[in-house]
Amino acid sequence: MESEYDLKIKEACGVFGIFNPNGEDVTSSIYYGLCSLQHRGQESCGIAVCNTGGPKGNMNFHKGMGLVSEVFKEEILSTLHGNLGIGHVRYSTTGAAVLSNAQPLVLNYIKGTLALAHNGNLINTQELRSELERVGAIFHTTTDSEVIAYYIARERVNTNNVEEAILRTARKIRGAYGLVIASPRKLIGVRDPLGLKPLCLGRHGASYILASESCALAAIGAEFIRDIRPGEIITITATGITSNCQLYQDTHAHCIFEYIYFARLDSTLDGINIYDARIHAGAALAAANPVEADLVTGVPDSGIPAAKGYSEASGIPFALTFYKNSYVGRTFIKPTQKEREFGVRMKLSVLESVVRGKRIILVDDSIVRGTTIANLICMLKNAGAKSVHVRISSPPFLYPCYFGTDIPSNKQLIASSHTVDEICTMIGADSLDYMKLEALQSMVGDLPLCKACFDNHYPMDISSCTENKNNDSRSLRL
Ligand code: AMP
Repeated sequence: MESEYDLKIKEACGVFGIFNPNGEDVTSSIYYGLCSLQHRGQESCGIAVCNTGGPKGNMNFHKGMGLVSEVFKEEILSTLHGNLGIGHVRYSTTGAAVLSNAQPLVLNYIKGTLALAHNGNLINTQELRSELERVGAIFHTTTDSEVIAYYIARERVNTNNVEEAILRTARKIRGAYGLVIASPRKLIGVRDPLGLKPLCLGRHGASYILASESCALAAIGAEFIRDIRPGEIITITATGITSNCQLYQDTHAHCIFEYIYFARLDSTLDGINIYDARIHAGAALAAANPVEADLVTGVPDSGIPAAKGYSEASGIPFALTFYKNSYVGRTFIKPTQKEREFGVRMKLSVLESVVRGKRIILVDDSIVRGTTIANLICMLKNAGAKSVHVRISSPPFLYPCYFGTDIPSNKQLIASSHTVDEICTMIGADSLDYMKLEALQSMVGDLPLCKACFDNHYPMDISSCTENKNNDSRSLRL
C-alpha cells in the first residue's frame, strides 16, 4: 500500500528539443537543458537523437529512472550523437514508477520514425485509445504520449508529411500539451490551443531550441526568441522555420500554477517573469491580509519570493529562518515515517537565534494537504518562536486538475473539506490567511488564466472526467 508520503502531488513534466542544421552534435545541450528543467519532474528522464544527414529512422535514445545527472553518466552520453534531438523529464504517475513510461517515446512505424516528448494531460485519451485499438494498435504503456504518437503514426499513412499528421492529431486530442517531436529531418513543437502548458523558442548560434521554460534556454547560452503561440505547430528544418496556426483560437487559459509553483524563478512564461509574479503575489497578500509581526519568512524554496514581496509591501523585515542543505539530494522516496522525518531534518534546520521569541509571518505559495506547513510551524515553535502567522500566496486549493498536475483526490486537498479556521488549528498556526481569489489575476496582469483548481471554472468540458471526481485522481490519468 502506498504511504501518504508517496501520494505527494507531483510537478509538471519538462520538454526540450534542439536542431543544429550544420550537423553539430546537440546531445550535451539537451543534457544541460534537461538539468535546468529538473524541477519539473525527477522521476525519469530521457534523450533521443538522430543525424539529419544519416539514414532516416536511425534514432538513438536512452531513458532511465532518476535525475538527469544520475541517468546520463559520461559513458551513456558518449553513445548518443546527433544534430537533432529531444529530451524529457517526467514525474511519476500511478503507483510504482516504471521505466516503460519514461520519455521520449520512440516509435518506428510504417512511414518512418518519430520521437515524442509530452508535457501535460489529455482528457480524451481513453476515447482515442479505443479508436486506435479498434484498428489494431497494441499499447505498451498507459501514457497519453503513446496515444498521441500512435495517432500521428496512423494519420501519417494518409498525409503527405508528418506536420499534416500532427495537425490532424492535434484536432482530435483534448487537454493540455506542450509537445516536442523529432522526425528524422525535422524538429516540431506543438502547444495546446488554450496555452495551458508553456513552450518557447530560442536560438544558439545556428541551432534552434524548443523548451518548456526559458530557463532551459539560458542554461545553454541561447537567446529567447518567443513563446510558441497557443495552438501553434512550429516546424524547424534545415531550410528554416515554418509555423502553422490553423488551431489558433481567441480563448486562452494559461495555467496559474505555473506562476504560483511549477515554473523556475528565473523563467519568463508568456511575457510574465516568474520572480516578478511571485513578488507581486506576496505584496498583494500583505495588502489584503496584514498582521503585526517581527519578521517575515518563507517556506524554502517555494515561499521565499512571496515572503520577500510580503516584506517589501508591509515594511516588516524579511529574514531567513531555515537552513536548507542543498547537498543531500532526493529524500522523497522513504519507506517509513521515521526515515522520512530524518530526511526532512537532514534537509532543513531552523536558525534558532533568528526565531527565538519572535512573532513570525510564514509565507508559502500553497497548501495541498498541510503536511509541509505543519512540520515547519512545529520546527519554528520548537525553536522558540513566540507566534507563527501563516500567509499563503494563492487561494485555497479546492478542485482537481485534469491537465497535468497529479492532484490527489478532493479528500486529500485539506481546503476542500475544512474551513480556514479548522486548517489553522490543524497545522498549529496562530493565524492563517490565503490570497483572495480576486487578487490572483493581479499576479500576471491581463494574461488569460486557467484557475480551475481554485474556482472550479474549467476552460473546457470536463464532464467525462468529473464522473470520477471523488476518486483518487490518479485514476483520472487516462
Ligand atoms: P502539502 O505539504 O501537501 O500541503 O504541500 C504543499 C507544499 O507542496 C508547498 O510547499 C508547495 O510549494 C508544494 N506544492 C504545491 N503544489 C505542488 C505540486 N503540484 N507538486 C509538488 N509540490 C507542490
